This record gives sequence, C-alpha cells and structure tokens, in this order.
Amino acid sequence: DNDPVTTADPAPTSGALFARAKAVTPGGVNSPVRAFDAVGGTPRFIRSATGAWLTDVDGVDYVDLICSWGPMLLGHAHPEVVAAVTAAVARGTSYGTPTEPEVMLAEEIVDRTPVDKVRFVSSGTEATMSAIRLARGFTGRDVVVKFAGCYHGHVDSLLASAGSGLATFAVPGTPGVPESSTALTLVLPYNDRAAVEAAFAEHGDRIACLITEAAAGNMGVVPPGPGFNGFLADICTRHGALFVTDEVMTGFRASRTGYWGIDGAVEGWTPDLMTFGKVMGGGFPAAAFGGRADVMSHLAPEGPVYQAGTLSGNPIATTAGLTTLRLATDEVYTHITSVGDVIKQATTDALTAAGAPHVVQSAGTMFSVFFTDPADGPVRDFAAASRTDGVAYAAFFHAMLERGVYLPPSAYEAWFLSSAHDDRAIQTVLDALPHAASAAA
Ligand code: PLP
Repeated sequence: DNDPVTTADPAPTSGALFARAKAVTPGGVNSPVRAFDAVGGTPRFIRSATGAWLTDVDGVDYVDLICSWGPMLLGHAHPEVVAAVTAAVARGTSYGTPTEPEVMLAEEIVDRTPVDKVRFVSSGTEATMSAIRLARGFTGRDVVVKFAGCYHGHVDSLLASAGSGLATFAVPGTPGVPESSTALTLVLPYNDRAAVEAAFAEHGDRIACLITEAAAGNMGVVPPGPGFNGFLADICTRHGALFVTDEVMTGFRASRTGYWGIDGAVEGWTPDLMTFGKVMGGGFPAAAFGGRADVMSHLAPEGPVYQAGTLSGNPIATTAGLTTLRLATDEVYTHITSVGDVIKQATTDALTAAGAPHVVQSAGTMFSVFFTDPADGPVRDFAAASRTDGVAYAAFFHAMLERGVYLPPSAYEAWFLSSAHDDRAIQTVLDALPHAASAAA
C-alpha cells in the first residue's frame, strides 16, 4: 500500500499532529486562519469529509460551516465530482499544453458572467495580482484604490492599511511589504461615497483601477449599500479607471448566473474586470480573472502585459470546477438560501434569548454574526466590524465545536453552507445554538 495516509500512525490525534506540525510549519498551519489563535485551542486535523460533515483524526464528526472557506458549494466528496476528477486523474494530471477542459470551463464562465474573456490562474491571490497588473498596463496609470476590510489575497500592494488622511497613500499592512509596494495604494473606508469622491477628485487621473469585493466577506459579511457598487462603476468610468470586482468569495455562491454583482445587471453597469476563485475550482486550486475583451487583449501573448503559470488551467482543477458549476443548479442555491435562513433565524433567536448583543448580516448565501450592539446599527465598514466582541465569539465558537459544529475560528469570517447541508446537519446546529449563545452572553 503506497498511500502515505493509510500507512501512517494508525491513531494520530489532533493534539499530536499539531505538535508535529508546529515543529515543521510556522504555527502548525499552511494558512493563518486555520489556526485557533483568535479563539484559543488546537485546530482539528480532518481525516475525511462527506457531504456536510468533517471527520477529524480522532474520529469526531462536525457539521462543516466553513466549506473550505467557500469552495465546497456541493458539499464534500460529491459523487459526480469525485467520478469526474478520478477519470481526469487517470488521463494524466498536467501536460503544460492547452486542453479541452480549460476551454469548457472558460466558456461556462463567459456564459454565466459579464466577462468577455477569462485567464486561469491557481489562486485568488494570483487573480487579483494579475488583474491589477493588467489594469495598470491597460491604463498606463499606477494608483490602485481598495477598501479597508476587503481582502484580495496576500498581494503586496493590497496588504495595505489606510494612511493618515482620507486620500493619502497607504502604509504596509505587514512586515515584509516595502513602503514602495503600498505607496501607490489608496485605502478607503467601505461604503463611504464621500471618501471615494475625495480620492478621485485628488488623484483621479492617476488611478488605474478600484478593486472591491463584490460584497465584502472578509471583515464578516458587510454588503455594499444600495447602489454603492454602481456608484463605484460610474466614478471609475468618469475618470478613465477600471472597475474591478473581486468575486473570489462571492462568485458562483449567490446564484446560478454566478456573480454576486447581480445589481449591475439590474442597474445597467458592468465591471471592467472580475476575479474568481473558490467555487470555480470545485475544491482544487483554480482561479481566474476576466473582463472586457479590449482590456483582456492586452495580456501576453496577445498583448504586452506579462502573466503566466505552470499549473494554470490545470486539467484536474478545471474538470472539478466545470463539474461543480454544471451541478450548481437553481435548486442548489434555493436549498442553500433556505438552510441559511433557518440557521440565521435560529442564531438570532438563541442569542436574543441568552441576552447576547449581536447583529446578523448576509450577502447572497454568505452570512456572519457580529457580536456588536444592535443599537449601533448595521455593520457598514471595517471600523464597525472591528468592534465585534472577540471574547464572546471565542466562547460561542468553542461551545459549537464541543457540540459538533465547526465554525470559522475567527469572528471576521463568513459562514458557508452547501447543498449537502440536510436536516440532520441543520438539527445538529440548532441543538448546539442555545448552549453556544449562553456561553457568549
Ligand atoms: N479575494 C477574496 C475576496 C478572497 O476572499 C480571497 C480568499 O479568501 C482571495 C481573494 C484570495 O484567494 P486565495 O486564498 O485563493 O489566494
């Protein structure tokens, strides 16, 4: 048996694996948000997953409300996705040549979204990094505008914190990013039209693009105010800047037609560039950026803007993504929406009964709970999101985990559901909620 997992320690525990992991990997994890640093304790090491359920190495089952941070729209190990991927693997895993599956997935995305053309990459980070490079190459301008609390991956120029004034350039958000990398980034408060107007008034002719999450999901879920995205599209157009909507998290999560920025279709505007990831890879590393044909034609080899990738459009990842998107019917979204409504309502009821102040917010099928004072109103930006009570969330999180529900181990993350979340999974969540609400109060 060559399977390195089945031939390993027959009874590893999460605790033992975490100790081994920390010896060989910083913090014991390959992405910081998987650690339990914000909530305390030992992350569970997952051995397998089916449908709505994760099973850890200790044999404990959890209802999964992370869904791999978005991708698992159909739940884990969906039989048709597994079959398609297994067949694809048997044909060889990567050739470094063009393939049919990548054409089919590109056609599917072009069909469902406003983009004319799309280029595949392997992570959301690459997608936003490349979209920005293309925007700069196309416009011949250098400045990029983003919003505080919107996350676009770990791109140097986007790991930026607001400068000291409204329209002043950003400072690095982490050690390791030189000041020169953020010196051309403007970071503005989300949902703040006056700040956007001021930034464009002062720097409009230097702005290559404005990038925004189509609905913010990385500071907890903070939807754009009515007409906000349309306002952004309009001000970009008036100043000759490109409007880039990052749909890595929202894309193919809200509806069959894919993108969250459905308000664009209604209001009559289109993003110039869009980025996708997560669901479009069906649990494999696949992401994309796409947009207007005249902008996309600036990319190599058609145009001068360089961008490339050894595993971009990889046949396994594109097969998984294509199969997932084809199975993402209207019924899938209707189901996820109704399960979300049940869980949101039960969460609010439990927290209200326990006397724990909170605000539940959603965008499409994504939602999250802020432990903030409802008297302060809805959470509209990062400053308000930052007021969430992390101690209350940690208590809530652990009480849910003890009762078999795996929530994101951070108060600032969206909760995700899948079409596989059935009555048994829902009931497990509903049974756990009153205990967790008391713990949080
Ligand atoms: N953009 C958004 C909106 C995201 O939520 C994420 C990841 O969570 C990214 C970009 C980065 O994607 P990746 O983690 O695949 O690099």
